[in-house]
Amino acid sequence: MQRNSGLVGRILYVEDSQLVATVLTRLMERHGLQVIHTAEAEQALQLLQDTCSGGPRATESFDIVVTDFYLKGHLTGGDLLHAIRARFHYSQQEMPVLVLTGAEADEKQVDVFHAGANDFVAKPIVEEVLMARIRSLLLIKQQFAALKRQSEATHRLAITDSLTGVYNRRYLLDHGEQFLAGRSNNPVAAVLLDIDHFKKINDNLGHITGDRVLQALGDLLRERSAENTMVVRFGGEEFALLVPRCSINDGYQCADSLRAEIEALRPAGVSITVSIGLASNQLNPGMTLTQLLNHADKALYAAKAQGRNTVCA
Ligand code: GH3
Ligand code: MG
Ligand code: MG
Ligand code: MG
Repeated sequence: MQRNSGLVGRILYVEDSQLVATVLTRLMERHGLQVIHTAEAEQALQLLQDTCSGGPRATESFDIVVTDFYLKGHLTGGDLLHAIRARFHYSQQEMPVLVLTGAEADEKQVDVFHAGANDFVAKPIVEEVLMARIRSLLLIKQQFAALKRQSEATHRLAITDSLTGVYNRRYLLDHGEQFLAGRSNNPVAAVLLDIDHFKKINDNLGHITGDRVLQALGDLLRERSAENTMVVRFGGEEFALLVPRCSINDGYQCADSLRAEIEALRPAGVSITVSIGLASNQLNPGMTLTQLLNHADKALYAAKAQGRNTVCA
């Protein structure tokens, strides 16, 4: 008998024969695997539903599915496979499926692959064979998960301003138009916020202090904004916010209280003020992102001309 081979993974195991299920569950567990057994495909689908990303038990998701091909319920292992691929849109890398078949003719084996299985093992099950197959499917799954994590991290880097942690300008230009088009977002207020006389801070206190001021301002904007507000570093010492479901009046209140809060903030021990330009698509819902930002920029210019530390709409 093989010893525990130290495998790590959560297996959804679908088997209608209680006897076989007991034996194979014990066998897989002995190799270190966590096994959740169900007798019917229907139950398995419910478990997959609950544990999929966004589901109520997303943290308990499975690494691979091991299923008997013939099941006594309404659905067979083939139907389960079909649902995993077509309904949940799980690829073979995302949710590998190993099918346990009887000793059938070759064309049955073709069917199994056709249904979207990664691999099959014929009964009677040979422990070494089953574990070798599971090991290789877990490896596929783990490599896929690592690749996915890596690509998510790369994507986050590409859309984030490295100094302040808010979205970068490119993100705004790539996604702002879509944000304006979102029906539930309208009306949208655009807030352009520029630090007053920032050059003096750099000149008098050094660039590093200037950077710390920008970081603190980024933190404040992120903390103060509702979750669905897009917070962007638009340029050097200029930030942009796209605020959803925000009227001109609300936008003005919100911008002015931000202005006052920043005046009181003293980031890195430095007193700063900001000038804010505000624009809204409330009266013209068809406005493009460029038009909206142009309006906000004009308002910002006016705020600077009025002597700074003020909001202009
Ligand atoms: P105004 O009130 O008219 O906005 O004056 P200002 O000095 O803030 O504006 P100006 O555009 O003349 O200067 C902006 C300064 O912001 C110049 C630039 O060196 C500085 N800056 C831009 N990006 C960064 C950065 O990442 N870190 C630091 N420390 N400074 C930056
Ligand atoms: Mg069966
Ligand atoms: Mg400035
Ligand atoms: Mg500026």
